[in-house]
Amino acid sequence: MAVIGFIGLGNMGGPMAANLVKAGHQVVGYDLVPAAIDAAKAAGVTIGESPAAIAAAAEVVITMLPGGRHVLGVYGDIVPVSRPGTLLIDCSTIDVDSARKAHALAAEQGAASLDAPVSGGVGGASAGTLTFMAGGEADAFERARPILEAMGKKIVHCGGAGAGQAAKICNNMILGISMIGVCEAFVLAEKLGLSHQALFDVSSTSSGQCWSLTSYCPVPGPVPASPANRDYQPGFAAALMLKDLKLAQEAAQSAGAPTPLGAAAAQLYAMMNAQGEGGTDFSGIIRMLRGEG
Ligand code: NAD
Repeated sequence: MAVIGFIGLGNMGGPMAANLVKAGHQVVGYDLVPAAIDAAKAAGVTIGESPAAIAAAAEVVITMLPGGRHVLGVYGDIVPVSRPGTLLIDCSTIDVDSARKAHALAAEQGAASLDAPVSGGVGGASAGTLTFMAGGEADAFERARPILEAMGKKIVHCGGAGAGQAAKICNNMILGISMIGVCEAFVLAEKLGLSHQALFDVSSTSSGQCWSLTSYCPVPGPVPASPANRDYQPGFAAALMLKDLKLAQEAAQSAGAPTPLGAAAAQLYAMMNAQGEGGTDFSGIIRMLRGEG
């Protein structure tokens, strides 16, 4: 079993580190927030003095941080002290350019690296059922696989440096657009006097079928586990959806890809956030589309 450094023990990183401990690894963690440190300690994580001190002693270092500038900041501390052959795995959702810079920093030091963002949310992090989308060299991926398997149930090698982040933002752009489409259909159905259940029964088995409808239905009733049944408590907060849609727009601009619906979805989630609803589940955008609140 490996000595694994884990930097960023928040809502996602905390339970992911706990699952590595359960799998028998020695996990040495670090965070800036005392509550995150206390929760990780209770789960069996040893707390290190600093990211650099952790990296100097670890075979593998995982980061789970808010954004690209945090990841590059931490890499600036940990890469110079990493031993050659150390494996650096960044599981944060960040922009593709920063992910590629992180890989380049690691390569200069002779460290192996992966970008490996996740989907599955806090529930998946706790249950150890995350999906990992990895970008980097095949050797790094094969070394990381058993470690990622302790935290997830589906591990996909998407390609070279940055390919994991690319897969993540493309997927979440589909999700943001499809959720708005499903919400608009329910709002139109309401105006036309069609019941939620009738639209669900038809569309869930017709060509309008999609995950936003059948697994995450934005109206209460048809899918009992969806956040609509608990006043849109997240789930996946609108602020995080906006973050991912902005990353998709940045990537689209830098790559010259036309994404008009992705741009519209980003604008609508920006409006929802500006209305103070960033902490609401992203499916709660149906209330804004109805003109409520
Ligand atoms: P979070 O804010 O709960 O956790 C981030 C942690 O990083 C915080 O505890 C913060 O104190 C710590 N941190 C920040 N800078 C640091 C530094 N320099 N050194 C050490 N610790 C530092 O966020 P989260 O929900 O755990 O999300 C983490 C990442 O995972 C984000 O990139 C997010 O987009 C992505 N993600 C989140 C979800 C979700 O549902 N929450 C789902 C998929 C992906």
